[in-house]
Amino acid sequence: MKHDFDVVIVGGGPSGSTAATDLARGGHHVLLLDRAGRIKPCGGAIPPRLIKDFEIPDHLLVAKARSARMIAPSDKQVDMPVGDGFVGMVDRDVFDEWLRGRAVLTGAERRTGTFERVDRDPDGTAVVVYTEERGGAEHRVRTRTVIGADGARSAVARQNLKGADKVPCVFAYHEIIKSPPATGDYDPSRCDVFYQGDLSPDFYAWVFPHGDTASIGVGSANKGYALRPAIARLREQSGLDKCETIRREGAPIPLKPLKRWDNGRDIVVAGDAAGVVAPASGEGIYYAMAAGRFAAEAVDSFLATGKAGALKLARKRFMKAHGRVFLILGIMQHFWYRNDKRRERFVKMCEDKDVQALTWQAYMHKELVRAKPMSHVKIFFKDMGHLIGSAA
Ligand SMILES: Cc1cc2nc3c(=O)[nH]c(=O)nc-3n(C[C@H](O)[C@H](O)[C@H](O)COP(=O)(O)OP(=O)(O)OC[C@H]3O[C@@H](n4cnc5c(N)ncnc54)[C@H](O)[C@@H]3O)c2cc1C
Repeated sequence: MKHDFDVVIVGGGPSGSTAATDLARGGHHVLLLDRAGRIKPCGGAIPPRLIKDFEIPDHLLVAKARSARMIAPSDKQVDMPVGDGFVGMVDRDVFDEWLRGRAVLTGAERRTGTFERVDRDPDGTAVVVYTEERGGAEHRVRTRTVIGADGARSAVARQNLKGADKVPCVFAYHEIIKSPPATGDYDPSRCDVFYQGDLSPDFYAWVFPHGDTASIGVGSANKGYALRPAIARLREQSGLDKCETIRREGAPIPLKPLKRWDNGRDIVVAGDAAGVVAPASGEGIYYAMAAGRFAAEAVDSFLATGKAGALKLARKRFMKAHGRVFLILGIMQHFWYRNDKRRERFVKMCEDKDVQALTWQAYMHKELVRAKPMSHVKIFFKDMGHLIGSAA
């Protein structure tokens, strides 16, 4: 029986576009289906590893952050210079569109529409049903495989994978403002991260530079927590309350990888749809693209062998590469973000040059360094000291 496509990828964010590009490059017949009309709310900070692995051109970087400033509940500030490199800042409207464009240039077909469901033809083939607009006519495409890269609260995951409706989330909200002049406390090459209970009771707040604009945001897993007033307080305390507001937007950030990414037959999920945002940092763009690439590899293998077991490779490879970091960051978030006393100690710990070097190394290159074992030992004992101190 004829298929319309080898793979239908639902969602044209970083994850779906990456999977589409890789699969089209591999000679597969790919449909990239994306709902139009909304810019993904996002701080837009990306590490050099992403820029290198996914060949991101320099013109997409609207700013380069050379340091991060950690701010404790007491207002104590700790600067963490990046060193040789930088953190890239992207505007998601331009960045995502460029990624989708690349997928098309590589050979993927792009359609605008909203995924509704996967039906089955009498022969068992998956049929992706989508509408061009809400309430509009339905379109049906027969496909060998489906990648669900439709973001947090993914419809593909919820409809096809057990437990996908129960992923724990942080709710994040940010305001895009016109940047103030680079005087006073605003530095267009620095990311400010606020660990203060009156801004976020269990996560953090931020001011990220984006060239002509800046993102001022906050996250919390506490559903009842009022995010907008927290941003009003942050803007006031950082002297950004008078800056023009360009957009206000929010979205959930899923913070736990799903136990299963595939349905054992022909559907696999990636990116936020698979729950892969790093705990503690909320970093998701790199992990979405990495997961998209692993999903593409898994689908490629499935298409070559016809063995549905190949789809499991996506989660397996991702967790092998990043599972340990997710575990460590999860423990960190659970312990250090719990109250102001601990947040104060956490920021204090960031004064340590070894902590700074390891943090940047892990963030920039997505690897836990083995080169300096004594640093790990030192940090372990310092960490223990802080833990015991804060438990007292
Ligand atoms: C406020 C905020 C700030 C953040 N800041 C950062 C940061 O600074 N750095 C970082 O690395 N990460 C950050 N993140 C996380 C990051 O934005 C996500 O992890 C990342 O966008 C996930 O990429 P994705 O491709 O999996 O999903 P998405 O980027 O959400 O893309 C999903 C795509 O699917 C489409 N879609 C959804 N439903 C359907 C449907 N039914 N039919 C068709 N298409 C559909 C959407 O239109 C979208 O294009 C932030 C998140 C938030 C909410």
